[in-house]
Amino acid sequence: MQATVLYGPGDVRFEEVNDPKIVEPTDAVIRIPATCVCGSDLWPYRGLQPIKGPTPMGHEYCGIVEEVGSAVRSVKPGQFVIGSFATSDNTCPHCLYGYQSSCVSREFMTRAQAPFLRVPNADGTLVARPGVPSDDMVPSLLTTSDVLGTGWFAADAANVKPGSTVVVVGDGAVGLLAVLSASQMGAERIIAMSRHEPRQKLAREFGATDVVTERGDEGVARIKDMTKGIGADSVLECVGTQESMMQAIQATRPGGFVSYVGVPHEVTLEGTQLFFSHVHLHGGPAPVRRYLPDLMDRVLSGKINLGKVFDLVLPLNRVAEGYRAMDERRAIKALLRP
Ligand SMILES: [Zn+2]
Ligand SMILES: [Zn+2]
Repeated sequence: MQATVLYGPGDVRFEEVNDPKIVEPTDAVIRIPATCVCGSDLWPYRGLQPIKGPTPMGHEYCGIVEEVGSAVRSVKPGQFVIGSFATSDNTCPHCLYGYQSSCVSREFMTRAQAPFLRVPNADGTLVARPGVPSDDMVPSLLTTSDVLGTGWFAADAANVKPGSTVVVVGDGAVGLLAVLSASQMGAERIIAMSRHEPRQKLAREFGATDVVTERGDEGVARIKDMTKGIGADSVLECVGTQESMMQAIQATRPGGFVSYVGVPHEVTLEGTQLFFSHVHLHGGPAPVRRYLPDLMDRVLSGKINLGKVFDLVLPLNRVAEGYRAMDERRAIKALLRP
């Protein structure tokens, strides 16, 4: 088959690779109706995260099970399934505490920007639902694999509750779906920090009540103004830079919660400042598997429609254009159809 391989900064190729097959008895192979480019794929694409030679790309997936290994019990060929970017056995202590993305048998997925994909730890990773969803449902379902699951974790980890005042830092797909997640959890006020008009519009559609365009200290000052000088109950950091992390911590009220789900790039925290900020910090790679069954049901029941986050749809063989468009911020998120 042909699949996506990153060779170096700006160099994405769609080229012949080996077909995935069952390697371990706990594996499954799935056929992918749609996959996508992630904001985190842009770090190595921009050369900001080194790669060791040609790297197969893609970690967000859903699909139809083609084949399973001899030890797989919970999914079978023909079923529609979704899994997280981190595989899990769903039985070890970390999994049982709900932190499947720290599973002792975790593997980070890659190779999903392809028509077929091998999924290790299939029993603990894949969640099946009866029937095969209609094609127009697939993009919304695909978001549960990472961006919705991660946005949901951001809201949950920042203790968003009915009545909360929430700030979301970052207007990428994760940030936008964090807005939607906070709204689903009953937040009263949701302030999206964004300076891009199409993204501000989508943030409002997803439940943002206010938009702040300022950044850094000015952004923090705006949030303080809007909250009577107190700061927000919950701030969801969905970027991963020093500026966004400091913006999140400083915009939070003493006793409030900061979640951080953007992979940090050269972020350092100063102890004294953290000490006197009085905030709770909780983040990391989202344990998407914890939320998958619920999120899949919410999408399938039509309660939430998030397909709009994909504002560019391309055939898979034009994946390089998807990376380019996201890199240049011409697209929020590119959907790829094999
Ligand atoms: Zn992703
Ligand atoms: Zn585990």
